Amino acid sequence: MRGRCKLCLTPDVELRDSHFTPKSTYGLFHDGTNEPVRFVEKSLFPTSKQVKDYVFCGDCEQLFNREGENWFCPLLPTVGGPFPLRERVMKGRILYRDETTAIYQAADNPEIDTAKLTHFALGMFFKAAVHSWKKSSTEPYMQMEPEDVEAIRLYLLGKGDLPKRIALCITVDSMVTPLQMGVQPYRMQDTQGLKRYVFYLAGVFFQLFVGDGAAEKNVACFGVHPAHPIWMQNASIVVRNTGREEFKGARRTKKLEETLKELDEKGLSIRLGD
Ligand SMILES: [Zn+2]
Repeated sequence: MRGRCKLCLTPDVELRDSHFTPKSTYGLFHDGTNEPVRFVEKSLFPTSKQVKDYVFCGDCEQLFNREGENWFCPLLPTVGGPFPLRERVMKGRILYRDETTAIYQAADNPEIDTAKLTHFALGMFFKAAVHSWKKSSTEPYMQMEPEDVEAIRLYLLGKGDLPKRIALCITVDSMVTPLQMGVQPYRMQDTQGLKRYVFYLAGVFFQLFVGDGAAEKNVACFGVHPAHPIWMQNASIVVRNTGREEFKGARRTKKLEETLKELDEKGLSIRLGD
C-alpha cells in the first residue's frame, strides 16, 4: 500500500504493515494457556490480535527498530522468566532508596543505552499520536498538540533535541515477575499543570509530561536529569489496584515531590544543563 509516511512525511511511498506495539513484545504475554491481556481505550480484555496498520515506510520502520526497539524489547520479562532490564538498571548507582522506591542512575551504567531507551519511549507515544490504529476511525489514537507531535517527530528522526517542555519519566517494576500486560499510550488527567501521557509494557511504566516548566517540575525524570534516573517501584501493584480505569496519578506525584525534596536535601540534585 502506498501513502504518506507519518514519520518522515515522504509522500506516495510504499508503507509497511506497521505494528503499534513492537511485534516482538506480543510473545511476552503468552503463558501457554491464557490469552494476553491488553488495554484498549481503557477497556481490558484478553486478545491475541496484533494491532497494526499501514503507517510508516520501510526506512522509518527500520529506524524505530535500530534506534530503540531492538535494544529495548529483548530486555523485557517473559512470563515467569528473568527481567533483564530490571537487572541492568540495578547495576547502576543508587541515588535514593526508601521502603517503596529506589532511584538508580542510568547515565554512567554501561548496560543502559539511555538514547535507545528514550527513542523507544518517544516512538511509542508518537505512534499513538499520529494514527488511529483502528479501521473505524481516522482520529489519532491519542490526542497530542501538533507542535508537540512535531517536536517528537524531529527528535525521532535525529533532527532535533527534545524541547524542555517535554519530560520523560521511566519506572521499572521492582518485582522480578511484574504484571504481564500492556497498556497502550493514552492521555491521563493533567498534573502540575502539565499534560500527562502514559503507557505500560510488561513491568515498565512510561510517563511523558508536556507543558511549560515540565523539565523543572520533573527534575528527577529520566529524560531531564543528567543522571538519567530510573525509578524502581512496584508498578504492577499500582496498575493492578487501579484496575481498568487509570493509573492513580496523585499519590505518585506526591511521592515524586517528597523524593525530590530528599534528593535536594542530600545534595544530589543536579542543575539542568550540567
Ligand atoms: Zn518514513
